[in-house]
Amino acid sequence: MAPGLRRSPGIQTRSKPGGPPERPMKPVRGFVHLETTAPYVQTCPRCRRSILYGLAEGIAARVDVVPISGTQEAAAAAAGIQTFTLRRTGLVQRDAIRRTDPALASPVLAEHRCPPQPQQLSLLPAPGGSR
Ligand SMILES: [Zn+2]
Repeated sequence: MAPGLRRSPGIQTRSKPGGPPERPMKPVRGFVHLETTAPYVQTCPRCRRSILYGLAEGIAARVDVVPISGTQEAAAAAAGIQTFTLRRTGLVQRDAIRRTDPALASPVLAEHRCPPQPQQLSLLPAPGGSR
């Protein structure tokens, strides 16, 4: 090492004979791709319902807290709504292969979609004054 340069304390190197004692190696946390995080409860900012939020293999997942059945999952898949399996370690995104895996059978949670909001037109009286 050139004089004047200091060794970074985070970088582990092999100790030379007669040098300082070797420190135990620590796991280095670098960039984690496709990271999965344990979900936590959050409130949807739009509809104020409780949802679960977490990273599922690098994708931000917002899911409803109520599990769905197999029939509901088929309907959700047909509607283009993503489904996830809740595990202790995080949410597992379900695809056609994972839907057949019995280890990922339940609980299945659907991607959160806010319920339809009432529109101003439905609040106005009908034409002709029938209301
Ligand atoms: Zn919502």
